[in-house]
Amino acid sequence: MHFKINREAKTSRTGELRTKSGRVKTPLFMPIATRGAVKTILPSEIEEIGFEVVLGNTYHLSLKPGTELIKKYENGLHGFMNWKKSILTDSGGFQIFSLGARAKKRFGESGVKLTEEGVRFIDSTNGNKYFMSPEDSIQIQLDLDTDIIMCLDECPSYPCTQEQAKKSLELTTRWAKRCKKYFDKKTKGRKKKPLLFGIVQGSNYEKLRIQSAQELVKIDFDGYAIGGVAVGEPREQLKEILKWTLPYLPKDRPRYLMGLGRPDELVAGVVSGVDMFDCVIPTREGRHGRLFLWKDDPQKIDFKKQVIFFETINIKNARFKKDLGKLDEHCDCPLCKNFSRAYLRHLFDVNETLGSRLASVHNLTFYFKLMEALRKNNE
Ligand SMILES: [Zn+2]
Repeated sequence: MHFKINREAKTSRTGELRTKSGRVKTPLFMPIATRGAVKTILPSEIEEIGFEVVLGNTYHLSLKPGTELIKKYENGLHGFMNWKKSILTDSGGFQIFSLGARAKKRFGESGVKLTEEGVRFIDSTNGNKYFMSPEDSIQIQLDLDTDIIMCLDECPSYPCTQEQAKKSLELTTRWAKRCKKYFDKKTKGRKKKPLLFGIVQGSNYEKLRIQSAQELVKIDFDGYAIGGVAVGEPREQLKEILKWTLPYLPKDRPRYLMGLGRPDELVAGVVSGVDMFDCVIPTREGRHGRLFLWKDDPQKIDFKKQVIFFETINIKNARFKKDLGKLDEHCDCPLCKNFSRAYLRHLFDVNETLGSRLASVHNLTFYFKLMEALRKNNE
């Protein structure tokens, strides 16, 4: 079996996921390498922080540079970006739908057209037209040779009516069946198989979340993702969506909460029984000079009791102008080890890219230490 639970608390669990690139500890956080790079950071640095999985984007990579080039490298995307550990690729569904609106604005026609067969969309950067079926999405991900492959789903925006959400999740389920069939056919007999995950939809409707989970479980995936969150719904809804969905997912398969979130949301996810996360927050916030700082030594925090365990600061703030102190006394990242707050503020002040690079490394280190502490907390 590819997923092993080592320890279970009430609902949370720590375990180990086996991909074709190796074993990874769960719960885990995946830095985002949308276009084959974690913005401004070397793969060796990502590995040094401790991360074992990064996330690539099927939509962006299939448009540029395209799979024809990436396929020429050993282990596909691994060789192309020189990352030997595991890679998860999303299906492209979320980007097609979210970037479709942008295309409409620029090129005056609907950016996305959905049919039973698949989705027609316009590249929002140049107006080129494309078509992607569920099978195409799987084939692209197989060509990228990544470790965890996601099914193509329709991700409805928020708010959406119950009727729209139902129609959408039923299409997602039919696509999920096609993805699985195609995946099985293409990987049959392979010794080193990637893992295929289905995506639970159903917006903020309990009945629909349950329906989606039950139907996907029948198809039998290697893991299950909870999609359609972080699309503009009130953030308090997250706990409800998890409460409705997780009991219907098999315990012995990994669960992945897509696109979330803030450190406190990661804690809520782990406590509910989620095993995998990804989010742009640590790197995006870092590039804007916003940093996460520990209130205490992360190894000593009891996350069940201590709700406020971090603070965020904006280093551009004038109060740091003459602050010779270390950024975070509980962090040993290259920024905290070698530079002061005043120096980091100066880098942002004069637009030196080293500033956003160091801040991203710090925030990613914060996220890694958080997951490490949560794994330890469960022991
Ligand atoms: Zn640091």
